[in-house]
Amino acid sequence: MASLQTQLAVVGAGPGGYAAAFYAADRGLQVSLIDPAPNPGGVCLYRGCIPSKALLHVADVLNEAKHAESWGVSFGQPKIDIDKVRAFKGKVVAQLTGGVGQVGRMRKINYIQGLAEFADPRTLKITREGQKSAETLGFEHAIVATGSRPATVPGLSIDSPRVMDSTAALDLPDVPKSLLVVGGGYIGLELGTVYAALGSKVTVVEMTGGLLPGADRDLVNILARRVESMCEAVLLNTKVVSVKEGKSGLSVTFEGQLPEGMPKERSFDRVLVSVGRKPNSAVPGLDKTAVKVNQRGFIDVDPARRTAEPTIYAIGDVVGEPMLAHKASHEARVAVEAILGERVAFEPLAIPAVVFTDPELAWCGLTEADAEREKREVTVTRFPWGASGRAITLDRTDGMTKLVIDPKTERVLGVGIVGRGAGELISEGVLAVEMGANATDVKLSIHPHPTLSETLMESAEVFFGQATHVFKPKRK
Ligand code: NAD
Repeated sequence: MASLQTQLAVVGAGPGGYAAAFYAADRGLQVSLIDPAPNPGGVCLYRGCIPSKALLHVADVLNEAKHAESWGVSFGQPKIDIDKVRAFKGKVVAQLTGGVGQVGRMRKINYIQGLAEFADPRTLKITREGQKSAETLGFEHAIVATGSRPATVPGLSIDSPRVMDSTAALDLPDVPKSLLVVGGGYIGLELGTVYAALGSKVTVVEMTGGLLPGADRDLVNILARRVESMCEAVLLNTKVVSVKEGKSGLSVTFEGQLPEGMPKERSFDRVLVSVGRKPNSAVPGLDKTAVKVNQRGFIDVDPARRTAEPTIYAIGDVVGEPMLAHKASHEARVAVEAILGERVAFEPLAIPAVVFTDPELAWCGLTEADAEREKREVTVTRFPWGASGRAITLDRTDGMTKLVIDPKTERVLGVGIVGRGAGELISEGVLAVEMGANATDVKLSIHPHPTLSETLMESAEVFFGQATHVFKPKRK
């Protein structure tokens, strides 16, 4: 059995793991990065964020082409070559994962394609891809960045090729005539709208009273109107109680507040189950260390991302929500700096969340719903995109920008945006919240005209009752 030694072993090469490995190498550590895939990338690059965004771009073009008819430009009925669409998505994934692999090699990272198991708090057993026998890898520190996987529901996630999780749906097996999306969260809405744009009749079923339960309702309402117009039906307060394989599709039984006249049982060509994700904390051999996994299945860590085992750190989806790639990448830097002996903590004021639907929905920092829950006094200012020159030129006034402001200090505590490109716009909000900007700072920062970014500046102007393009006098 071969035996190797490394300063830092990183288990899992998603945006948490590879960011940790690369940063550690940049800081002078000798690093091994272990993952079963041929290149770093993890769920995000191989079967999550990146392929879904490639498909969302395709959906965007289809929707925009249709929309152009109302401005006098017609492209006719689109012809969709699904094999080519799939190939485009595959090319995007290959290009990015290959590129990330290359910059890893340039940093002299020892990338091991294989599976890791803890033998003790200082040793991993590694089984390389295609080999039966394991080799040992001794380490001074390890970072666990094993991510998460789609949650399943008993009775619903049945063993049928017609029942898909996000991974299967991204493989784009075909464009089903009818698709049921179970779960009206990030994945359900992103992939549901992709399939709707490609031509499927999509029904979304969400067990709570609204789509995207974590987000502010005024923002969600604008997106919901669009989702409803793209889908055959959006069923709220409704659950799926059973899915059975039938002759001509999947027979699905609903329970809950169904619209009048809608039968409890219906047949669909395919079902996408997108009801959340579960942390991959059952890392083999972890029980041979002092690492603790909590009741929710997350690995317990301190603010520096140290586990209960002094040599082992953990980051990303496996340590808790929000399960977002950019959160993992930032935790990665904190863990590496802690390993280097620096006094650090992962304590961001704003982790942006973006739902890449059309329109996009994004928020960061304190939401209005959080403020209500915490009984914090806040002033919320809103700027409707109907008053934005840029939004009107795009014929996309279905948007809103809002600021959550501390009325005493006038500090911007949170930002929420729904509308085209909200995912790009939110970064200014993150900067404002992190830098402790107040409403005057945002108001006085000159924003380019005509852009959607002006809606942030005008939201700040609303706070003073002085927004140029809306008449909202300050309440006395
Ligand atoms: P989610 O938590 O966003 O949404 C799941 C939804 O399913 C919720 O609205 C929930 O109420 C509903 N639900 C749960 N059980 C149900 C049932 N039995 N019947 C009907 N509805 C049910 O989860 P997701 O969409 O699966 O995504 C998982 C995670 O992946 C997200 O929380 C996010 O962290 C991450 N993600 C992020 C992005 C992004 O950043 N754009 C995109 C995709 C995924």
